[in-house]
Amino acid sequence: MNVKIENLTKVFPGRDKKSAGVTAVKDFNLELPDGKLVCLLGPSGCGKSTLLYMICGLESPTEGKIYFGDQDVTDIPSEKRGVGLVFQNYALYPHLTVKQIIKFPLENLKGEEKLSKEEMDKRALEAAKLVQIDGLMDRKPGYMSGGQQQRVAIARAIVKRPKVLLMDEPLSNLDARLRLHTREEIRRIQKDTGITTIFVTHDQEEAMSISDLIVVMKDGVLHQIGKPQDVYDDPVNLFVAEFLGTPEINVFEGKVKDGGLYIGEQRVLEVKGVDDQDVWIGVRPEGFEVDPDGKFTCELSGINIMGRDITVLSKHDAAKAVIRSIVSAETKVDTEAKTINLNLKPYKTFIFSKETEERIRFT
Ligand code: ATP
Repeated sequence: MNVKIENLTKVFPGRDKKSAGVTAVKDFNLELPDGKLVCLLGPSGCGKSTLLYMICGLESPTEGKIYFGDQDVTDIPSEKRGVGLVFQNYALYPHLTVKQIIKFPLENLKGEEKLSKEEMDKRALEAAKLVQIDGLMDRKPGYMSGGQQQRVAIARAIVKRPKVLLMDEPLSNLDARLRLHTREEIRRIQKDTGITTIFVTHDQEEAMSISDLIVVMKDGVLHQIGKPQDVYDDPVNLFVAEFLGTPEINVFEGKVKDGGLYIGEQRVLEVKGVDDQDVWIGVRPEGFEVDPDGKFTCELSGINIMGRDITVLSKHDAAKAVIRSIVSAETKVDTEAKTINLNLKPYKTFIFSKETEERIRFT
């Protein structure tokens, strides 16, 4: 089921007449393709949960429309939309067994949708198998690990065979190892079922690793949508460039003058077709080459050897933070030297307007 969002806005009213309302989601337009896993990604307070809840039907938009396929679902109540929802806290009924918890949404089906007991058992087992907890059907949640409980919550959300599966930070209560494992599981389950899935997270690494598409947002506004690698390789503005990537992109104050990109007085790259102006320069950690004749000289602070790679740490007055460059372990670095010379790879270097922080493209 593809999901289309048109001019969607949500304004929460102020507490009283004097205080202004909060615009949590602002004029959002989006088309999410059928059968894909899409992450809504952004910092805390950017409106991701509000957007998810509007798609779910738990919040109603102030303006705009939501379509599932051709059907306008904006005014359809949540229980009739055919959505499954997984929350951050699994909220499982402690006194019920896994089997009873998974079956619960089926027991509430009425009229034409009503199922026989056999059919309910069959579907509950199918869902449990999919998330690999079919061996624990008689257990109660108190006797299960966090990861297992989250699987039960996923089984409960998919047992009704929803058209759209919505997940609100489903991994935040799990420890680091389990998080990693469970996110791979979610990816597998999504691929096995082919259910269009919308997944909210503030963790860019999580989003990069599991999604077909990421939607990067800030202050209720959509900044960029695309395949994770495309967004990483081709950010539209400084916010997106800084939000994606570990280690973070290196950011410098610089300027463009006579077709050259300058950091301080050093002309570090040729950038044709850009007017003279002050800019922000972003260079991905893998965007530097160590070269004795390199055009960018900075102060060497140290190196960390990490098996295949070396992280070279250096400093420069124009850099926002410590400069991290990741180079192959075969690279020769004189650790005794006070400075290091680097070249910038043009396809790993982005420039942004100092004023608007929008990307400026060069050839
Ligand atoms: P987080 O990752 O911290 O959950 P989020 O990106 O999911 O954040 P939302 O929870 O959607 O963000 O909130 C977006 C904005 O709307 C925030 O400024 C928040 O304070 C505000 N907001 C959310 N719910 C309400 C509400 N019921 N009433 C008033 N303001 C709200």
